[in-house]
Amino acid sequence: MTESDLSQHTPMMQQYLRIKAQHPDMLLFYRMGDFYELFFEDAEKAARLLDIALTARGKTAGQPIPMAGVPYHAIETYLAKLVRLGESAVICEQIGDPATSKGPVEREVARIITPGTLTDEALLEERQDNLLVAVCANDKLIGMATLDLASGRFAAIEVNNETLFYSELARLRPAELLISEDHTFTLPKLPSAIRKQPAWFFDYQTAYRLLTQQFSTKDLAGFGCEHLTVAVRAAGCLLQYAQNTQKTALPHIQGIYWERREDSILMDAATRRNLELDSGLMGKREHTLINVLDQCATPMGSRLLRRWLHRPLRDTQVLRARHHCISMILQHSLFAELYQSLRGICDIERILARVALKTARPRDLMQLRLALGMLPALHILLEPLKNVNIAQLAEKISTFPELHELLQRAIIETPPILIRDGGVLATGYDAELDELRSISEHSDNFLLALEERERQQTGLANLKVGYNRVHGYYIELNRTLADKVPPHYHRRQTLKGVERYITEELKSFEDKVLSSRERALTREKYLYDQLLGKIIEFLAQLQQSSAAIAELDVLNTFAERADTLKYYPPEFSINKGIEIIEGRHPVVEAVQEVPFIPNDIKLDSQRQMLLITGPNMGGKSTFIRQTALITLLAHIGSFVPAQKVVLGPIDAIFTRIGASDDLAGGRSTFMVEMTETANILHNATRNSLVLMDEVGRGTSTFDGLALAWAVAEHLARHIGCYTLFATHYFELTQLPTLCKTIANIHLDAVEQGDKLIFLHQVKPGAANQSYGLQVALLAGVPRNVVKQAQLRLKQLEAQKIHTSPQQTQLTLETQVEPVKPVIKQSPVVEKLRKISPEDLTPRQALELIYQLHQLLD
Ligand code: ADP
Repeated sequence: MTESDLSQHTPMMQQYLRIKAQHPDMLLFYRMGDFYELFFEDAEKAARLLDIALTARGKTAGQPIPMAGVPYHAIETYLAKLVRLGESAVICEQIGDPATSKGPVEREVARIITPGTLTDEALLEERQDNLLVAVCANDKLIGMATLDLASGRFAAIEVNNETLFYSELARLRPAELLISEDHTFTLPKLPSAIRKQPAWFFDYQTAYRLLTQQFSTKDLAGFGCEHLTVAVRAAGCLLQYAQNTQKTALPHIQGIYWERREDSILMDAATRRNLELDSGLMGKREHTLINVLDQCATPMGSRLLRRWLHRPLRDTQVLRARHHCISMILQHSLFAELYQSLRGICDIERILARVALKTARPRDLMQLRLALGMLPALHILLEPLKNVNIAQLAEKISTFPELHELLQRAIIETPPILIRDGGVLATGYDAELDELRSISEHSDNFLLALEERERQQTGLANLKVGYNRVHGYYIELNRTLADKVPPHYHRRQTLKGVERYITEELKSFEDKVLSSRERALTREKYLYDQLLGKIIEFLAQLQQSSAAIAELDVLNTFAERADTLKYYPPEFSINKGIEIIEGRHPVVEAVQEVPFIPNDIKLDSQRQMLLITGPNMGGKSTFIRQTALITLLAHIGSFVPAQKVVLGPIDAIFTRIGASDDLAGGRSTFMVEMTETANILHNATRNSLVLMDEVGRGTSTFDGLALAWAVAEHLARHIGCYTLFATHYFELTQLPTLCKTIANIHLDAVEQGDKLIFLHQVKPGAANQSYGLQVALLAGVPRNVVKQAQLRLKQLEAQKIHTSPQQTQLTLETQVEPVKPVIKQSPVVEKLRKISPEDLTPRQALELIYQLHQLLD
């Protein structure tokens, strides 16, 4: 809107529209007295989203102005609702004095709230990170920068393909994503708020300058990310955005951490979902790994645990150190006491962020004081962990006696929620504040004393001290006594019959008292700000301590879980292999009432793939998932639900599990399956762990079988990764005869009358029946339907055809030929007869068999 357009509006609307023009895609809350008002489209949108009344406020430029408003004291609740909906809000305050301003009161944007830059306790989930992520890409690399403004954690990563990019997005689950207006990468469906930024916001030189300014360093070499140009560009854009929204310094962002992709075990987006780490496939948290593990005493611990779970490490030295720490906690039976001690420590991490942003509330400082008070006792408890090799965990937790003493002196026992009305700082902390407060509190006493003193000194018994709004304080005397008035009395006002005077003393008292309340409040706010400044001096050390406390909390939780749930320390080896003795599924075991049957697994370079067959409900999925979860737990530094585990190097975990339609995404089961499978085939290496559950289910039997066969063979022959392949295609059990590194195992069940008892025990070799019908009975399918099906099965089994090339010929000789002499002449059979089995790809074999089936039908 140009200035001439603006001139048609009222002065207040002109002010509004100028501010609004700076923030076109955010809701502008414009302070007017006791309300925040929204106008025009903002009003319509807010009325809809917040369920508030839409009204109109007069007219501007000849048009009525739609308006909606919320009371100023209730704004936080509305903001919370908006950010949950992914919206952003701009809060514009009155900064001028309405009484003295000509035209509209001066207003200014005080803060901007966006989903990815929240720091307010009320707007954040306590046990979940809230991340702002910026993405920048060139033709080879995708760079990402991540900021947790509520802690100051700032990280950068670069990846070289979209799968890895999606994996990172699934790991970080950003609340808000900044991308360039001209980005070329495709984004998956995300719950994040997406904000497009002009391309030049990602300029490298600007980014470099902004980052070095922020960290007060000459260059970025110290952070190891000097050469990460795309990530640096993303980081620059992100930092600028954070600065613009916060409108204040961000001293708690003290550096950027380069997350090397290769340092962690890769898990793609599907794997994170399929393994149900922190959200269930059905959306239930009860059935997630985090639900079993997270007994953390502090919210900082819970958040760190989630970060660890999504970023399993490959550095076995770090992992061994964590395992050692857990052993020490267990050995000294420390976990109950440590838990109690940690429980008294609040969310210092987020409090520190608010201190740094100067938005910390009095209660934050009270909590911080309580936490600091717990540290000396915690230190004593940590004595036995002194030698644990986790980068001096115990030493990183400092005690802060001076700061603790300062907070004790400064803040009253239970301060009010806001500093706004004062009453936060304790008496005795600041002499000037005490005096100001005592003036306003004791002004009556002072006046009575002054009156008494003046009466005595002047001998005028009728002398009175009074107050009037217009003229202020005065000493009043009857007119007739005017000649007795001492010379230091100055006349202030003459009324009928009385004269009013002022003295130097009374004047200075008046100056003090009239504004003493305001001045006490101003002084208190100033001192509070100074106090925040003093805490900021300790910021780096405090942040280090809070990070160490979070780590200690997670390790202590691991110790407690190990003790309660009977988890044992895993071992790492440099030789390829996965060996698990008596492994259990941590989540199934925790949620079901019946005892869990432990199982072993052994994979190495000679035995890389297990084909797992057995009845539905037999425990195939459970078995393959537990292998992945045990591997994952070992790599976050936890003990594991198994008697013994030895793991060789692992670089990735991939899963293709279950047939789930991505209906929202518009992809069929088959498409989802294909995309996930293709992804695995492209990214897996010989050190990857691949779980395949019922691959091929999403399509017709023969396509599915062909696909499963081809995938299994490719994984075994060309990639040589560790693969657990659960399948209902019985034909695949022939694979071990073709490829030496593949073995069959099965899960069994026994029939007892009509019933089927699942043993859940892994046994060598292929299963001999699928038991599908009995399971149907168990699932409540009517008995006569099952009977019919049983009959049909018997008929089918009489014509059973196997699918490996050798078997196909065998079948042809022994079964097809005697049964159906007619088809012997068919071209299919002729073809089959001529080909030697070795020349046939599985796909070709399957196609032939398919045609054979049609002949038989
Ligand atoms: P499948 O994949 O063969 O159809 P699942 O792995 O889904 O079977 O297992 C079905 C159910 O059997 C699980 O939900 C669990 O309750 C139970 N189960 C599986 N494995 C075990 C086990 N080892 N011990 C005890 N119960 C098990």
